[in-house]
Amino acid sequence: MEIKGSCMCGSVKFAIRGTPKMMGTCHCSRCRKLGTSTIVFVDRDQFTLISGEAKIETVRPEPPFTYHRSFCRKCGTSLGEPLSPDASFPINAQCLDDDPVVRNSFHEHESDQPAWVEGVTG
Ligand SMILES: [Zn+2]
Ligand SMILES: [Zn+2]
Repeated sequence: MEIKGSCMCGSVKFAIRGTPKMMGTCHCSRCRKLGTSTIVFVDRDQFTLISGEAKIETVRPEPPFTYHRSFCRKCGTSLGEPLSPDASFPINAQCLDDDPVVRNSFHEHESDQPAWVEGVTG
């Protein structure tokens, strides 16, 4: 099976072969502001960037933070780390156009959620 994903404007398109190995949500303010709270982890060999590589901008954080985050330069959709050289990397679950089958298996930094959040959100 193949799971398709894209940014809001459609410039960036990708496909995941098989199922992502994990889904999780980080509720810290950094992930919230980036719009990448809920991610799926994919292996490099199951991920194909179909289009839009030239549109992808990457934010490199100041230490001690290490996660790079990429977004579409045209529409701003937060993508996760589709250009990561790592063997496994996170992709924003909100970009998926198909059901990734895998379900959320962890939440972290839940106490950092703003007061207006109702329940546990992605
Ligand atoms: Zn876009
Ligand atoms: Zn976080």
